[in-house]
Amino acid sequence: MLEYSAKRLKQDSSKVFKMVHETGYYDLLGVSPTSSPDEIKKAYRKLALKYHPDKNPNEGERFKLISQAYEVLSDPKKRDLYDQGGEQAIKEGGMSGGQNPMDIFNMFFGGGGRMQRERRGKNVVHQLSVTLEELYSGSTRKLALQKNVICKKCEGYGGKKGTLEKCLTCKGRGVQVQIQQIGPGMVQQIQSMCSDCQGQGEKFSSKDRCKTCNGRKVEREKKILEVHIDKGMKDGQKITFNGEGDQEPGLEAGDVIIVLDQKEHGTFQRQGDDLITRMQIKLVEALCGFRKTITTLDNRILVVSNAPGKVIKPDDVKCIQSEGMPLYREPFEKGQLCVHFLVEFPEKDWLPEHLMYQLERLLPPRDDVMLTDDMEEVDLSDVDVNAQQRKTQREAYNDDDEEGPRSGVQCQTQ
Ligand SMILES: [Zn+2]
Ligand SMILES: [Zn+2]
Repeated sequence: MLEYSAKRLKQDSSKVFKMVHETGYYDLLGVSPTSSPDEIKKAYRKLALKYHPDKNPNEGERFKLISQAYEVLSDPKKRDLYDQGGEQAIKEGGMSGGQNPMDIFNMFFGGGGRMQRERRGKNVVHQLSVTLEELYSGSTRKLALQKNVICKKCEGYGGKKGTLEKCLTCKGRGVQVQIQQIGPGMVQQIQSMCSDCQGQGEKFSSKDRCKTCNGRKVEREKKILEVHIDKGMKDGQKITFNGEGDQEPGLEAGDVIIVLDQKEHGTFQRQGDDLITRMQIKLVEALCGFRKTITTLDNRILVVSNAPGKVIKPDDVKCIQSEGMPLYREPFEKGQLCVHFLVEFPEKDWLPEHLMYQLERLLPPRDDVMLTDDMEEVDLSDVDVNAQQRKTQREAYNDDDEEGPRSGVQCQTQ
């Protein structure tokens, strides 16, 4: 429990500062230099699916950049190098993000090596947005998707058997060459796929062509998949439907891969098998005990109480055993539910001054300072957080010391 709290505090203060040379890769993924590896993974997952050429054919360049950024930021060594010296350092270090974006994508989404997949149709990857409640209690979702299936009418042949003829438009080469004048005395040759035979070099005459698929050998078909979300599944977990991907004549069908994407929850945060919730208590409750309720993800109501005198301090974390997430494939086992306490102090002037004395009599005694002549009295004023932040950031950039000044941290965090 202490570990959780210490870790969180450390994260909070490191969020204030991390000196990096440039942030381009972070910006591409929409994360910050202090983001955790998991946050980077999640950001890549979302963007890669969004900009994958299958879904967004005009964003090829974007897809490539996202892959490059992920390739660097997902590798601790490369990320360090990038943080210190930016893209330049990555290039000079011979670590340039040269991997094929598709390979990175396939590796991430479990498409397997390219070699072994050559004889198979393409995998189709879909993201499925799920709630934390669904991951807690399990659920079944129906997903409608469009896929290519072999035309049943012509069995993937494209027309009447034995009537395939050489394409006259491209003379059987599958490509067409166009010559375009691009300036005085300058011409450009443009090679493009023959649109008459779709690059096949052969085609059916219109009377022999399959009427159902129009010679394309495949048809689009709507398919409903039932996705079983098991108790305890995690954000980013993949559910594979073997052979449910696009069909292509002569190839084994690819897979459909469903990637779970957990929506943020208003009350609970998940950390592995544990759940974390914040509980705001009043100062009187922190000192004199309380009884509070927590509604679980399956809508049970837990009553938690703390005896008078068992003081809860700000940022204390207490755990409830077996009220966390169910374990995947062992759903009767559960993680723990950690309650992170936030103590609400009274506003200023809440107690008339003449009653302060009575309060003070009840509280543990204070430490007094003996004043001597060589001391100086100074004023305490409120901190302007924004001004302070600007100032320390400026100092940090001017300072060559990699650690950067940490002096501003205490003022900024609260
Ligand atoms: Zn057909
Ligand atoms: Zn042709």
